[in-house]
Amino acid sequence: MSQDRSALPPEVDGSSLWVPAPDLDELRSEYDDLRAGWQAARDAQARYDVFRRWDVLRRRLATWQALARLRFDQQTTDPQRKAARHLVDEMSPKLMALDDAMKRLVLDSPGRADLEARIGRHVTALWECELSTFSPEIEEDLTREARLEAEYTALLAGARLAFEGETLNLAGIEPYTQSPDRDTRYRALQTKWAFFAAHGEELDRIFDDLVRVRHAMARRLGFSSFTELAYRRLNRLDYGPAAVEGYRQSIARDVVPLAADVVARRAKRLGIRTPMYWDESLSYPGGNPVPSSRGPALVEAGRGVFTAIHEDIGRLYGCMVDRRLLDLASRDGKALGGYCTSFPAYGVPFIFANFNCTHDDVHVLVHEMGHAFADYENAHRPVYDEITPTLEAAEVHSMSLEYLAWPQYELFFGADAARYRRQHLEDAILFLPYGAAVDHFQHLVYAHPDAGPAQRHEMWRQVERTYLHWRRYGDCAYLARGGLWQAKMHVYQVPFYYIDYTLALTCALQLWSVSLRDYREAVGRYVGLCRRGGEAPFTDLVRSAGLTSPFEEHALRAVGAQAKTVLAATETAA
Ligand SMILES: [Zn+2]
Repeated sequence: MSQDRSALPPEVDGSSLWVPAPDLDELRSEYDDLRAGWQAARDAQARYDVFRRWDVLRRRLATWQALARLRFDQQTTDPQRKAARHLVDEMSPKLMALDDAMKRLVLDSPGRADLEARIGRHVTALWECELSTFSPEIEEDLTREARLEAEYTALLAGARLAFEGETLNLAGIEPYTQSPDRDTRYRALQTKWAFFAAHGEELDRIFDDLVRVRHAMARRLGFSSFTELAYRRLNRLDYGPAAVEGYRQSIARDVVPLAADVVARRAKRLGIRTPMYWDESLSYPGGNPVPSSRGPALVEAGRGVFTAIHEDIGRLYGCMVDRRLLDLASRDGKALGGYCTSFPAYGVPFIFANFNCTHDDVHVLVHEMGHAFADYENAHRPVYDEITPTLEAAEVHSMSLEYLAWPQYELFFGADAARYRRQHLEDAILFLPYGAAVDHFQHLVYAHPDAGPAQRHEMWRQVERTYLHWRRYGDCAYLARGGLWQAKMHVYQVPFYYIDYTLALTCALQLWSVSLRDYREAVGRYVGLCRRGGEAPFTDLVRSAGLTSPFEEHALRAVGAQAKTVLAATETAA
């Protein structure tokens, strides 16, 4: 699926891309035409032609949605952008309904076999999975669920924390929680969690309502619990809760002891006898590594980094810089966060971020560039649904690039590169048990939909004892009572998604391990994996890159052993 990367079409410039908003009536008649065309088609070629027309329409609509969302995030106070974003939110369910009806028509028609002979079985399996998660009966429940999710977003976005004479939001307080000064870290976390304690009842009530509405929806669709519905929403065709449970057990067995060791080693470096929760985000007594270049200089350094990894990645990055397909500086009115989006009608990706002069700037840029590369390489696939794989597979693209960039980090961090690499690896080891805890907690929650808030807090304490047994919250009573999960947006908004990051990390660490032996081999496998886009389910993609599925028992054991060796060998560099 590789394409000619020598030049992007001349009209492609990130600052001027635009797709007009569709007119709903016109769109309905376009879909009517497509349905009539499919039914009237006499042979496989005629049906494929209808499929292609539909596919082009879907790319145009997806591009309109992605652009409206991006333009709003770039300037959230602009009334026109706000209105355009609002229109997208209003129309999205209607567009989905039109698309679902078309999918249903194709799946139920005798012409389906002809199409599958052309495009394969994977796409129709995805459609079947998607369609099983919806029925008009749950429309009201879905609206209620979306409203509760928005309530959570608004509650957190409205946080105003008074700290050291400043008024900060939840993102603004984060750098202080990594301060080299222990008292500052402690007070920053106390300030942050005082906000959650003050809104504890509201947070419990929102989540309680979410659990109930999700469970009711699942039952209405004929599932035994929400867990089953959630796995389908995530398009997990190739594994279920039992495989994930086995995977969590291997994290508890093979990674938790290593993570406890990382916490102890960090404490030793910091000269702390009893490490507390507020000590976990600091790696070095003088502070965490910071990039040696900032802003535009850091963006320029990226050209060398990505070209050294692979010339195609470097060339794409250069094009993205030159064509303004990056918006990285933070400014007033810009939405928080960092992500990669793409415009399928143009076949180009776009990276959005909020640089804050910490190591996060490098992390976001490299991570999102992995997504951007995979998106670009697959933009011209004949089937829209196969451009991007499921979420855990997509995160392999981004996380692996973070590790393939290891030999180049001098260009970003100068003399601090070795310390950054070590911190990057330690953070990965610490993340796996945390991710497993967040996942295990959700399985407990939805297995006991009638539990109350106090029981849920007890469930969180239970998973902390399994995966994060070293944690000490001191006099931070809200956390000691089991409140940490309430700051995790995914638990409220994308149920069961979180484990995807750990699955992807398990694969990325395997590629890292290969890269230490044979760098070119690892890059070759990585590029090959990216170029498969979303043409197969997660475990199939992983195996084709010569990696062990995370669901196999020995996957984490090998990765853990490699990490242990590298951490031991670099101890002095710390
Ligand atoms: Zn990502």
